[in-house]
Amino acid sequence: MKNVIVKTQDLKKYYKTGNQTVKALDGVDFKVAEREFVSIIGKSGSGKSTLLRCINKLETLTKGNILLDGKNIDDSLEFHKKIGMVFQSFNLFENLTVLDNITLAPIKTKTLSEIDAVKRAKELLKMINLESKINEYPRSLSGGEKQRVAIVRSLIMSPEIMLFDEPTSALDPEMIGEVLSLMK
Ligand code: ADP
Ligand code: MG
Repeated sequence: MKNVIVKTQDLKKYYKTGNQTVKALDGVDFKVAEREFVSIIGKSGSGKSTLLRCINKLETLTKGNILLDGKNIDDSLEFHKKIGMVFQSFNLFENLTVLDNITLAPIKTKTLSEIDAVKRAKELLKMINLESKINEYPRSLSGGEKQRVAIVRSLIMSPEIMLFDEPTSALDPEMIGEVLSLMK
């Protein structure tokens, strides 16, 4: 039996806007085991992003629990370090170079020393054939390159789980393959 690493229990997230309540998540129970890949499919507005945002603590829950390694997630660094998230719209820091985008989190959180962070960033950029872009800013990268940098920016933290919210839907068809193979 593989270890369960993420588990949600009766997860509810309601958004109140004016006198309307949108039940984005209304009692979601699921488990994800170690080394398991889970895809969530549903029509637009069905709550896919909300679910991922809840797991990454970008939302407060209306009700229910999310457990990571058996512990209720909270907003602490301990949990944030275990979870990586990649967004449809990349969300790179436009004012930072590729290198600084990748090394910011490990240096700020003291997960790696500055020397080790730079060394690891270079290894990761080499792995995705983007070493030549190390001192470029995101604006000079293609969509596929931006998304690969965003994935590497998460990977440098060695997260236990990676959340991908439609990571290829903003990309031209010819760039989807390179992002999918890096995800694998
Ligand atoms: P999906 O990612 O599956 O397209 P979302 O999780 O983005 O769906 O949205 C689920 C529902 O919650 C939608 O009806 C959406 O309009 C609503 N919603 C999402 N975020 C907010 C918010 N910040 N405020 C109000 N309603 C929201
Ligand atoms: Mg979405």
